[in-house]
Amino acid sequence: MPCFCCLGMVSNWTKIPPPLFKKVVIVLIDALRDDFVFGSKGKQFMPYTTQVVEKGTSYSFIAEAKPPTVTMPRIKALMTGGIPGFIDVVVNLNSPALLEDNLIWQAKTAGKRIIFYGDDTWVKLFPKHFVEYDGTTSFFVSDFTEVDDNVTRHLDRVLKREDWDLLILHYLGLDHIGHMTGPNSPLVGPKLREMDNILKKIHISLLSKEETSLPNLLVVCGDHGMSETGSHGGSSEGEVHTPLLFISSAFEKRSAPLAQPELVQQTDLASTLAIGLGLPISRNSVGNLILPVVGGKTMREQLRFLHLNGFQLSRLLQENTPAYEKDPGYEHFKIAEKSHGNWIKLYLEGNNSEILLNLGKKVLKQYLEALKTLSSSLSKQVAQYDMYSMMVGTVIIMEVLLLLLLSVPKALSKRAEFEVPLSPPLFSLLFYLMCLMLCAVHVIVCTSAESLCYFCSMSWLTAVGVMMLISALMCGILSAIAKIFENSRLPLKNPIVSSSNWSEIDALILAGTLCHVLSLGASSFIEEEHQTWYFLINTLCLVLCQEQCRNNFLLKECDPQHSTSVRQNSDCIGETSESKNIDIPAASNSKLGRATSSSEFIKGSDKWLSVATPWIILICCRLLRSLNQTGVQWAHRPDFGHWLTSSEHKPELSFLAAVSLLMIFFLVQRRCSLVSKIAMALGLLGVYSYRAAIGNVIFPWQHGGKDISKGITEARFVYVFVLGIVFTGTKDLLKSQVISADSSTKSTGLWEVYSGLVLLAALLFRPHNLPVLVFCLLIQTMMTKYIWIPLKFDAAQITIMHYWFGQAFFYFQGNSNGIATVDISAGFVGLDSYVELPAIFLTAFTTYAGPLLWAIHLLCYLSSEVSRNSAAVGHGCFCYAVMRSIPVAVYVVLVTGLRYHLFIWSVFSPKLLYEGVHVFITAAVCLFFTAMDQNHSYKVQD
Ligand SMILES: [Zn+2]
Ligand SMILES: [Zn+2]
Repeated sequence: MPCFCCLGMVSNWTKIPPPLFKKVVIVLIDALRDDFVFGSKGKQFMPYTTQVVEKGTSYSFIAEAKPPTVTMPRIKALMTGGIPGFIDVVVNLNSPALLEDNLIWQAKTAGKRIIFYGDDTWVKLFPKHFVEYDGTTSFFVSDFTEVDDNVTRHLDRVLKREDWDLLILHYLGLDHIGHMTGPNSPLVGPKLREMDNILKKIHISLLSKEETSLPNLLVVCGDHGMSETGSHGGSSEGEVHTPLLFISSAFEKRSAPLAQPELVQQTDLASTLAIGLGLPISRNSVGNLILPVVGGKTMREQLRFLHLNGFQLSRLLQENTPAYEKDPGYEHFKIAEKSHGNWIKLYLEGNNSEILLNLGKKVLKQYLEALKTLSSSLSKQVAQYDMYSMMVGTVIIMEVLLLLLLSVPKALSKRAEFEVPLSPPLFSLLFYLMCLMLCAVHVIVCTSAESLCYFCSMSWLTAVGVMMLISALMCGILSAIAKIFENSRLPLKNPIVSSSNWSEIDALILAGTLCHVLSLGASSFIEEEHQTWYFLINTLCLVLCQEQCRNNFLLKECDPQHSTSVRQNSDCIGETSESKNIDIPAASNSKLGRATSSSEFIKGSDKWLSVATPWIILICCRLLRSLNQTGVQWAHRPDFGHWLTSSEHKPELSFLAAVSLLMIFFLVQRRCSLVSKIAMALGLLGVYSYRAAIGNVIFPWQHGGKDISKGITEARFVYVFVLGIVFTGTKDLLKSQVISADSSTKSTGLWEVYSGLVLLAALLFRPHNLPVLVFCLLIQTMMTKYIWIPLKFDAAQITIMHYWFGQAFFYFQGNSNGIATVDISAGFVGLDSYVELPAIFLTAFTTYAGPLLWAIHLLCYLSSEVSRNSAAVGHGCFCYAVMRSIPVAVYVVLVTGLRYHLFIWSVFSPKLLYEGVHVFITAAVCLFFTAMDQNHSYKVQD
């Protein structure tokens, strides 16, 4: 248990005042947005609450939640008054018990009996605090009614009883409706009406119980709001603004309806409730007492409450800053305390009440000002960084990047060698010395650091392992550098003219990569990163168009000259030559590379089609772009996706989904075996019936009226086919490896794995996103047929193009660098209840479906190209890894530098999280690549 100092006890006005309320009921409605109560929706669907807000005995506020607007950190903020770190987003999935000082702990220690019903995050955070509880799991988002009925069924019984002091209810239904159908869905109204009836029931029951002693209090709040798409996690206005209502007969009746509720912080609730319940304010709370709630008390009491709050805040400041005495908040507080003392003196002398009241008001104002300044300076510096652990991580990442970059020439050579020289005997002494030195540094840092450090708290064995990794990587880098010097000292047989054979594509790729990496340093560029990628792929299309024209029209006349130039090029290629030319000799020398010049491939209409391809792709990109508005600045603009998902356009959506599924089938089936073709068709049919079952789309013969189910049977039906197709593909791959069959079996196998993934994506994507999948397949088909094969790009260039398109499709899907756009409903397709592992896997797959599908397509393409040299897959894998690690490494360094930036939690940290997950996925993809490549090299040896 944490140790709490007796806060407030040391103060001159000693004891904590008695409670102001007898029973307190907190109704937390998940994702309750401010306009659901104060806006037109509230007037329409929450008549009782609106009446209480406008004419009853209540105070209403808009509470501002700090990002990340995810449930668990918000519950923490509400109950501790502190500001939880960003890591809580990740921990949100599996919350450990809360050890920090909090309201619930204080209430339990004071002997209050607490009852809780609702989201089981609370039960995990406060495992032994409730005398009675019933938790419902929060992650099953397709359930709108059961989660709330589980809470409400206890209500009648509990309200009749007298044996509790604090009742907490957490309703999840509204949040789930938001995730599945958005804030404007027709389901929101009935849910708000249900909540209104519950509030009415509780309020009436509380009023009927009131005796002469103390009034009761009903608090209604939301943990966070929801964005225009119904999600949350980011910092848009809809997500951070939640209503906060205090309803009690202790308050004065409102005479005039309020204009606009005042804005307070969500953290203020903890301090206010602590005062209201007669408890010490939590130690780490940065909140301010909401004064109107205690407004009915005498001036003396009000001042005392404010002093308690100010005392607690200044204590917190003292603990956190050495120079606390110079803080303006602290100075204000000391002044207010002094005038408070004078006021008490006057009060005790029995002075004129008029003067006393005015003076009291002045002191009140001083206190409020001091509290505000104290809170703001506290919220600024509560974030403490574990610099040592961050440095260790950064060093490892930079070393890996450096090693990758140093091996570029070798890895892109004909033989695609990539080995980490980890055991060079020459450096063994250096290795041990470095280990020793790092361990010494570790001991010094960990014994001298006063704050909590993650890396120091790890076990010794792990720490030594990390030290050894760092030194080994360092030695690897050194030996790689040494090797490069050795090579350069050798006389070069053929001096390479490097700059002359750089094409426009190479220049674009280099400039694009550099610009993208540099743009990561600015918060607006991160918020609107999709614009960067859209611009890059559009430019790429234009350059491809130019290349295509040159290839088709200009080269025809000077054909012989071209082929000789190729031959000349191929003569002067050495081991360390430019990556660009590597595949060309292989192609032109091999038996399969029948044609020396690519223009022979293209005849008649095909020629015009191939010239038109870049333009068609540009049109596709424009259409996709208008499908999902993403980013921050323009996210609220109407887009085609919103239009489709609104309930009156269901027939259009159904038509589009059906056509898209049909198109997917035609684009995917051509390279599959017959069995997979049938499985694919049945699977896609299953996708449509799943969407029809959960009410997203309709069958033409059925016009509404059918009840909505969870579609579990339909979804599992599709899963069977996904597994079947992937299994067939894997079987083919194994066959091609073990029995060393021809490479066509292998490419069919790969394609089948790919089409299985496409089917899975079709199932998990929302119906309005199915065109993204269609265009993805269409662009891949066209690019393969008309651009990559005829223009003979090398593996590195093709890999980078795939990577760029993958990134763009990540945003075409509607993703952004904010947490709010993660579609967690995908994690529940075909599941009856929340199961952690599949839910995480499915959500991650849906989010990264774009980049993943492009990466697998790259593998399919590279290994099916028989004319390529055998190292193509190895080149692709290496380039893919380099392309991913450059932005990640640079971004980690940038974020470390920008850790005190104002937007660190709202912009930079979510992006870091996205990058981290993406790195894991890239690692998996590269592993798959390497496995496929291994097969190839065995075959070559045979
Ligand atoms: Zn929530
Ligand atoms: Zn939610």
